[in-house]
Amino acid sequence: MTQRLFVVQKHAARRLHYDFRLELHGVLKSWAVARGPSLVAGERRLAVQVEDHQLDYASFEGVIPAGSYGAGAVLVWDKGTWEAEGDPEADLAAGSLSFRLQGEKLGGAWRLVRMKPRAKQRGVSWLLIKAQDGAARSATAPDILEERPLSVISGRGIEVVTEPS
Ligand code: MN
Repeated sequence: MTQRLFVVQKHAARRLHYDFRLELHGVLKSWAVARGPSLVAGERRLAVQVEDHQLDYASFEGVIPAGSYGAGAVLVWDKGTWEAEGDPEADLAAGSLSFRLQGEKLGGAWRLVRMKPRAKQRGVSWLLIKAQDGAARSATAPDILEERPLSVISGRGIEVVTEPS
């Protein structure tokens, strides 16, 4: 199966969130996950789809300047490869994508499921859900976001990211 890049960027914008990005056809399909991904099987994390990003953004770590959209620090929280279980383009269009991750922090089987649109809603909402497998954690296990908060490329914490590494 095709191995593609995935990255999760921790982003201390007005509100801290995690940008979950999957490479597909030369761009990074992107979702903003307010609470971050969870390794607990079945735990649903709201993932609002945002604009595609360029592939080279996957290695961006630094500070988006004040006055720009998303101003604040960004670090590369996880990075690796992903594989779609089916046809990723068709599955995304259908609103249900099953895939596997091979990162340093996130692994195993996952799903992105599109929610029904609601009135006045900005962006398209999806749910990011870990499937039950050997890479899943129980609800009482440590939260991966707290256990491993640092950058996988520089080892820095979000408070100390003030410039590109
Ligand atoms: Mn962001």
